[in-house]
Amino acid sequence: MLRVLIRLYLITIVTFSAAIYMIPDLVIKVFHERFLSYNLDQSRGLQDLIVKQFHQVPTAQWTSLAQDLDQQFQPLEIALVRIDDADFSRYEHERLQRGEKIVRMGNWGWRTLSVAPLDGTLAVKLTVPPDPMDVNLLYWSINALIGAALLACLLIWLRPHWRDLERLKSTAERFGKGHLSERTQIPPRSNIGSLASVFDTMAGDIENLLNQQRDLLNAVSHELRTPLTRLDFGLALALSDDLPAASRERLQGLVAHIRELDELVLELLSYSRLQNPAWVPEQVDVPLDEFIDSILGSVDDELESPQIVIDVLLHGQLERFSLDPRLTARALQNLLRNAMRYCEKRIQVSVQVQPQGCEIWVDDDGIGIPDDERERIFEPFYRLDRSRDRATGGFGLGLAISRRALEAQGGTLTVEPSPLGGARFRLWLPTAV
Ligand code: ADP
Repeated sequence: MLRVLIRLYLITIVTFSAAIYMIPDLVIKVFHERFLSYNLDQSRGLQDLIVKQFHQVPTAQWTSLAQDLDQQFQPLEIALVRIDDADFSRYEHERLQRGEKIVRMGNWGWRTLSVAPLDGTLAVKLTVPPDPMDVNLLYWSINALIGAALLACLLIWLRPHWRDLERLKSTAERFGKGHLSERTQIPPRSNIGSLASVFDTMAGDIENLLNQQRDLLNAVSHELRTPLTRLDFGLALALSDDLPAASRERLQGLVAHIRELDELVLELLSYSRLQNPAWVPEQVDVPLDEFIDSILGSVDDELESPQIVIDVLLHGQLERFSLDPRLTARALQNLLRNAMRYCEKRIQVSVQVQPQGCEIWVDDDGIGIPDDERERIFEPFYRLDRSRDRATGGFGLGLAISRRALEAQGGTLTVEPSPLGGARFRLWLPTAV
């Protein structure tokens, strides 16, 4: 907010100062005659009185009278001058010769000099000296106080705007992170009320659309499971009959396809369950080393080659950590299965607990993930188009499920290049408050 306030203040103060110095000058220039005649009118009375004083004494005493008056009129300065004084302009000179008075104006149209002719050669000059230092300072302090008042005014105006904009920003951020029921709660009377209301309507529409999509996915997956189970059962029955070898082989191929479909449906169900915002993750205090051990044990028998080595690095003192064991295990198993598929011969699991949370890395020495695909691989059904990938099976849902499983607990899942040469998946779980 400070930056916006400073910028707005600078713009206002520069514009204000420029306006205050330029606009009066411009107006005085345009209406010069009017200001001049006004000043002449204003000074006429005083000048007439002074001129009368001069005409009451002989010309020889004018100099001493001028000195007396100068003393009396302090800080105004009174002096006798010649009409043909080089200080006068041609126009002023002509006026004085015609017996007319002249005035000069300074800043803001204030009178700085007025001259009245006494006879054909001499005139009496009344000079208004510049303001003394202390009065000047007082004028400047008025300017400074106006500047401070402007700043206070801007602050009062900006604060509610800023608060509402911050609320809009944090709502957009939370909404983007999957909290679909998040709304701005900005009242319509706010200056950004209409913007906030459009945002809220849009958020509501998106929430409805996503909910409908999730419900549809859920319903379709559920509906698919029944016929799939029937098919599986039917095929198992058919396989129990005496069949020619070729037919048995074909049926076994069909059973494999059905199992694959069943697996996809199960994955879809898990994914849509994790998408449900009403679903609250568990918080169980687990000993981290045993937890990691049990997950490694659960995927151990899926190792394709016995040459693959899995190292576990436990950094520092591993204490107990509060997490949702099912969700975290699910995410870690997916990452380990992927690492087993894509590694050459090394996988490394590292765990570190910090005061803010727990960090787990799954590294492998495989082909890694290209820079520009690092976010996309977390999208559902996204698979990298690499010849090796096609052979590995999978539906492209594993990483999407893993990320949702961590985000549901307030954590994150990201990928980066591994020091082993392949991919490093970084799981982050915040400490429960
Ligand atoms: P799938 O179940 O098809 O493997 P995932 O969501 O688990 O789907 O992975 C998405 C894509 O990310 C995969 O197709 C694969 O190309 C890439 N991938 C995942 N893990 C790794 C890894 N450890 N090394 C290289 N590529 C990987």
